[in-house]
Amino acid sequence: MWLEVHNVARHFGARAAVLDLSFTLERGSIGCLLGPSGCGKTTALRCIAGFEPIDQGSIRAQGRVLSEPNSAMPPEKRQIGMVFQDYALFPHLTVEQNVAFGLHRLSFTDRRRRAMDLLSLVGLADRRSHFPYQLSGGEQQRVALARALAPEPDIVLLDEPFSSLDVELRERLGVEVRSVLKHLGATALLVTHDQQEAFAVADVIGVMRDGRLEQWDTAYELYHRPSTRFVADFIGQGVFLRGEVSEANTVQTEVGYVRMNGAHWRMGQEVDLLLRPDDVIHDDASELKAEICARAFRGAEFLYTLKLPSGATILSLVPSHHDHAVGERIGIRIEPDHVVAFESKK
Ligand code: ATP
Repeated sequence: MWLEVHNVARHFGARAAVLDLSFTLERGSIGCLLGPSGCGKTTALRCIAGFEPIDQGSIRAQGRVLSEPNSAMPPEKRQIGMVFQDYALFPHLTVEQNVAFGLHRLSFTDRRRRAMDLLSLVGLADRRSHFPYQLSGGEQQRVALARALAPEPDIVLLDEPFSSLDVELRERLGVEVRSVLKHLGATALLVTHDQQEAFAVADVIGVMRDGRLEQWDTAYELYHRPSTRFVADFIGQGVFLRGEVSEANTVQTEVGYVRMNGAHWRMGQEVDLLLRPDDVIHDDASELKAEICARAFRGAEFLYTLKLPSGATILSLVPSHHDHAVGERIGIRIEPDHVVAFESKK
């Protein structure tokens, strides 16, 4: 394994900012720590970078120990590149000098060549003589990425790299950053609270909560097979609908019977069934009706919030040529692709 984080903890006083954190990254893969503010993702990244000591566990890169309790390799020896939220470019150096900055071991000609290769890769070769203040935020962040990648680090760490940018640019830059990292075969770890960003950039994502990793998985698995209620709630949209297990692995809900696969449940057990907006299909022919209580136009689709007879609400994603008004009752059908349920909270 290229990066191994094993059972890491970091406390501030009595409070654990990171606890029992374990995951691995293969060479060339892009990981992401995702979670709400205060969940410990920045602390985890800082431990890997060597800016924070750890008080339990170990961090290794290619088998070399980077951190253990009471022993830490200094950040500059770790062969780690960093990209920060605020770009952190040197304001008095040109774009090219910024990218060449960490390449002091190379000859002058090789430094220039390497800097220009990286600048071409991020699409900014023609800006090489500009100063950072002459660039847009997105351009500055691409320079910061080129600078982090230029010395061929073992791992690149990206700390909320797009959060100062507007939403549209964020997604585009996310895709670009991924393609640059993949082109170079770089191993990278991103930290973000924004799941769209995580989905756009990463191969594998860890959802953190209160210092712990709840699930380390692909975006597809996190969305379709969340292993905890928190992950189910945090990733994507959806609601929990109460149901009762009526016979082996079949749940009776007010929207009908839903067959569960995999997990085994007791007869009569109360469960909360996860319904994603794409599990609830609009179907005029269906006898099951629900009242539209809110709608959001998304371009290709409407996201309808629907009220069931019991008062429970569910969400439904409907192609936008089905234009219904709030207050209308529409036919629906439930077609969960992957059935996810958790034991009901009493
Ligand atoms: P955000 O997205 O808001 O930066 P985060 O998920 O990155 O949040 P961390 O910054 O890692 O979370 O913080 C995790 C917890 O550790 C928080 O409760 C925070 O207050 C605490 N913490 C972080 N750094 C320190 C510090 N230097 N001293 C004391 N407590 C800290």
